[in-house]
Amino acid sequence: MNPLVLIVEDDASIRNLIGTTLKAHNYKFLTASDGESAIYEASTHNPDVIFLDLGLPDMDGTEIIKRVRSWSNLPIIVISARTEDNDKIEALDAGADDYLVKPFSVEELLARLRVVQRRLNSDQASAPSESVFVNGDLKVDYAAGCAYLKGEELHLTPIEYKLLNLLCKNVGKVMTHTYITQKIWGSSWDNDIASLRVFMATLRKKLESKPGSPQYIQTHIGVGYRMMKVD
Ligand code: CA
Repeated sequence: MNPLVLIVEDDASIRNLIGTTLKAHNYKFLTASDGESAIYEASTHNPDVIFLDLGLPDMDGTEIIKRVRSWSNLPIIVISARTEDNDKIEALDAGADDYLVKPFSVEELLARLRVVQRRLNSDQASAPSESVFVNGDLKVDYAAGCAYLKGEELHLTPIEYKLLNLLCKNVGKVMTHTYITQKIWGSSWDNDIASLRVFMATLRKKLESKPGSPQYIQTHIGVGYRMMKVD
């Protein structure tokens, strides 16, 4: 069945662009031009994905994320203007999965949609209590506390393992620096963001065959990191 996408955008030209693109690629869609109708549509039609503009006339997009997250885990892709960098980070911390920066291309839009769809499919394929995570050549055995690459055990420091664990448990989702440092160190000082970069670099060296063009851990400059779903 074709996924149902809810487009929340007050700018009619962007709304139409997204709608036309989705239609051309066999997605079904609904639209909302303000926050109240977005929440109404989301709760009555149960869409598979939401594209959410952050700057809406009646409500902050982050508020919508918080409200939707109170009942649903459905993927939310935020659409933000470049000047709304902090809003974008706040939206990710409120539970958004990914973001698109205006102006965006049709290819970009479809690529983001494919990423969340893969997450959706892998969620359905694996039980929440799954004790082993497999992604491409990577395998993490949560119960044993070990990680393997192509069957070889990875020798990770406790922090690197914690980081890998967090990334794997949130596969497909962009996590902000603040979110990660809070989960790993219980704080979010700028200093920890610097440490995070160092640990991420050493983890990548062990995990990625080409750390320069990573296959597993994607960097979002100024925002955070994401574990990509590898086929
Ligand atoms: Ca807007």
